[in-house]
Amino acid sequence: MQPTNFYRPTYAEIDLNQIKMNILNLKKHIHHCVQVIAVVKANGYGHGDLEVSKAALEAGASMLAVATPDEAIRLRLLGIESPILVLGASPPAFAVIASEHDITITVFQKDWFLHIPTLPKKLKIHIKIDTGMGRLGVTTESELSLLLQTIRQRPDVLIDGVFTHFATADEENAGQFKRQLAKFKTFLQLFPERPRCIHAANSAASLMHKDSLFDAVRFGISMYGLSPSAYVRDELPFQLGQALSLYTEVVNVKQLTEESTISYGATYTAEKDEWIATLPIGYADGMLRGLSGQEVLIQGKRMPIIGRICMDQCMVRLDGQVPIGEPVVLIGRQGSELISIEEWAQKLQTISYEIPCVLTNRVPRVYTS
Ligand SMILES: *Cc1c(COP(=O)(O)O)cnc(C)c1O
Repeated sequence: MQPTNFYRPTYAEIDLNQIKMNILNLKKHIHHCVQVIAVVKANGYGHGDLEVSKAALEAGASMLAVATPDEAIRLRLLGIESPILVLGASPPAFAVIASEHDITITVFQKDWFLHIPTLPKKLKIHIKIDTGMGRLGVTTESELSLLLQTIRQRPDVLIDGVFTHFATADEENAGQFKRQLAKFKTFLQLFPERPRCIHAANSAASLMHKDSLFDAVRFGISMYGLSPSAYVRDELPFQLGQALSLYTEVVNVKQLTEESTISYGATYTAEKDEWIATLPIGYADGMLRGLSGQEVLIQGKRMPIIGRICMDQCMVRLDGQVPIGEPVVLIGRQGSELISIEEWAQKLQTISYEIPCVLTNRVPRVYTS
């Protein structure tokens, strides 16, 4: 489906059915009592927070998770009524707003409560335990006891959940993972009443470690059809489907003569007469300069990006003339060929998480389902 309201043919297509399938397959894989928290932080990992949230809830997710207070407020103002958990730190100033909008927040410091007035509605919190990620969370048992004592004096605060986050659940060596899981279980025993929702697993743990599921899993990267690591990809209990494709069209075609050069710095020189296409996508769209040399799909074949990638455009070497307007697949399928997000990540020496996150707002997101 081609967008009709944009004059540039560059766009990302998000297949919401694929997102739903990934959730439904996960639900089959985990025990039916385990809930799915759909992680839609960072604009749904670049896929679009509102659209992904709706699809995830339709597929049976019972809660959404975001990173920041503002991401949660945005979803509420757009009409999302499901429970929303803010995974990152919220400032005390957000407490009143969170309680009014029924947004659940993460708490891990007793002093956080010092300056919070009596709240208009009950504030739901999840307590974060740092079991080895070293990022956010209570790190010692005495710290947790003091925090629980503080909360006991707040009838306007409800401990709805408790959670931790694994640093190495996507790795073959499970040593650190097991230590974190054991520490988490020890900390759970300090709660006088069992909170409604205990959760620990990210995508990697929910796919690989059935002993870490508790009441819910926080399903992020694999909801979008991507593997958390190469190790998990090779051990997947079911197939994931990548939801995002990236498309454009050829806007110019020319034949270079031998020794003509291409792009800034004139780093590429034609060795013979070559057909070159110009594509209207560049690093300001998220097609980063490190992707020079990456292939794209035109007429079902792989063609390399040559020369430096510009802010708004890049050039590709063809194996012959193609018409202006010829469709180009930058990420996704064409014919029997597939360019995965993982292929881009390898080219950029990074992880697949980063690729959709850095696709900028200039790239329209188009939804199919
Ligand atoms: C981002 C995040 C997740 C999701 O992780 P994935 O690897 O994308 O599944 C889960 N928990 C926390 C605390 C996070 O920050």
